[in-house]
Amino acid sequence: MKKNVLITGANRGVGLALVNAYLNAGWHVFACCRQPDLATELQQRQNETEALTLLALDVTDHQAILSLSQQMADIPLDLLINNAGYYGPKGYGFGNTDADEWRKVFEINTIAPLKLAEAFYPQLKSENPGIIACMSSKVGSMTENTSGGGYIYRSSKAALNSVVKSLSNDLLPEGIISVALHPGWVQTEMGGPNALIAPQTSAKGLMHVINNLSKIDSGTFLDYQGKAVAW
Ligand code: NDP
Repeated sequence: MKKNVLITGANRGVGLALVNAYLNAGWHVFACCRQPDLATELQQRQNETEALTLLALDVTDHQAILSLSQQMADIPLDLLINNAGYYGPKGYGFGNTDADEWRKVFEINTIAPLKLAEAFYPQLKSENPGIIACMSSKVGSMTENTSGGGYIYRSSKAALNSVVKSLSNDLLPEGIISVALHPGWVQTEMGGPNALIAPQTSAKGLMHVINNLSKIDSGTFLDYQGKAVAW
């Protein structure tokens, strides 16, 4: 039987590359994005394979998350990838941080991953317990923060890391593994054209890391090459 993965923010960037990587590896992919009608690459893949289910989901809509989980009640999930992310406005710094934008970034980067984990807990807690992989960022690491600034994004990912730790403590007794992942500096809309690696390289590495996770790795922060990132 095919393994099942649900990926958020699946229409572009790292999310889209993860969709392709998991499809190529023979998984069934539940690809969530805000506007499936505009997701041309995903639509094209869906025309080619029955292993891709395209779903509409804005991760800040908690009711929609619950409805989707109810819709998928009978489908055991091997993997939930909380990939959707938002950097927020660029060019702000000490003295002009926009609190409304901060709340928006937190909704997407920090609160949504927990809401998805809570909603899909029944599907993850199956006979073969699943994995919750949250796309964090080195930028959220306290140790790596030597340059300051980036208050909104940094704090949202640092808080996400804290969410992952608690998920791990709460759910590992049931066999569910939770990890925070750093995808590398990736050439996407968020990463920009000067980034170091292609989305495909990141996705291939992340998939390898996730495939090789065991219980001892739960509650850790790993990059796309499997190296531990300092909190
Ligand atoms: P992109 O900006 O290229 O893509 C972001 C994705 O998140 C899009 O699919 C976007 O959908 C989706 N998204 C944003 N808001 C929502 C929402 N409310 N509901 C549903 N989906 C939403 O980012 P990347 O692919 O580069 O990043 C993927 C993840 O990796 C993010 O969590 C990011 O923080 C993290 N990361 C990326 C790095 C990089 O170098 N690129 C480095 C470190 C971490 P839409 O098209 O509808 O806007």
